[in-house]
Amino acid sequence: MVKALSDTYLTFKTIFTGMGITLRHLFKRSVTVQYPRQRDVLPERVRLKLHVNIDDCIGCRLCERACPVECIDIGTIKSTDDDDLGETSTGHKKKLWVDQFDIDMAKCCYCELCVHPCPTDCITMVEDYEYSAYDRNDLILSFSDMSPEQIEEANRKLEKEAEEKRRKKEEAKLAKKKKAEAKAAAGDAAAAGDKPKDAATGGVAATDGKEAGSEKPETGAGAEASGDEDAEKAARRAEREARRAARRAEREAKKKSEE
Ligand code: SF4
Ligand code: SF4
Repeated sequence: MVKALSDTYLTFKTIFTGMGITLRHLFKRSVTVQYPRQRDVLPERVRLKLHVNIDDCIGCRLCERACPVECIDIGTIKSTDDDDLGETSTGHKKKLWVDQFDIDMAKCCYCELCVHPCPTDCITMVEDYEYSAYDRNDLILSFSDMSPEQIEEANRKLEKEAEEKRRKKEEAKLAKKKKAEAKAAAGDAAAAGDKPKDAATGGVAATDGKEAGSEKPETGAGAEASGDEDAEKAARRAEREARRAARRAEREAKKKSEE
């Protein structure tokens, strides 16, 4: 009997407590919103979703490097000399095609570390939270606006330009080599012209017919001048020899590479 009375009291107490709370909140201002018809005002600097204004992206990859979870994937193609990609709204010259700019929002931890290093302020957090998906792959956001044909064309142009530059470099190298060879040949010819004169003077260095014919012993300033000339010639000869040796080595190296 006592137990029955105690249970009845407890029942009525809990009912009136609950009803009291309900009645109290009935006259208070509501804190819920009728989503999706009503939406809450989001706090300032809220981090919900990343957005990239691809027109302003210069493909510097600073954001990709800053991301701690590696969820940004950027691909770029160098523009060719005749391409004019224009400028960003911040005045940065664009030199790279951005053929891929993917952000995997399923991996993103909303740290916003990618936003701050961007030199053109083109990657930002936006107030969009309605992008849930059934498939994780649907959470990979792609921002590049290049079509496969445009990517192919950009790659083709770049390859063509690289090939052209390589060819021009080879031609310039060849022309330089030919010039050096011609110069060396001219030096050799001049040396060959000197040799008979050396023989005529019995090994005494001479530069003109007058000196070659002279058997007089040289003294004072004359001997000094002759010594200078000898040293100069020896230096020239050594220089020529060095050039010849270098050419020989070059020829041998070329031959070996051809083999
Ligand atoms: S917010 Fe953080 S985790 Fe997300 S993409 Fe940027 S750097 Fe990476
Ligand atoms: S840091 Fe900015 S400009 Fe550089 S690749 Fe990222 S989004 Fe593009």
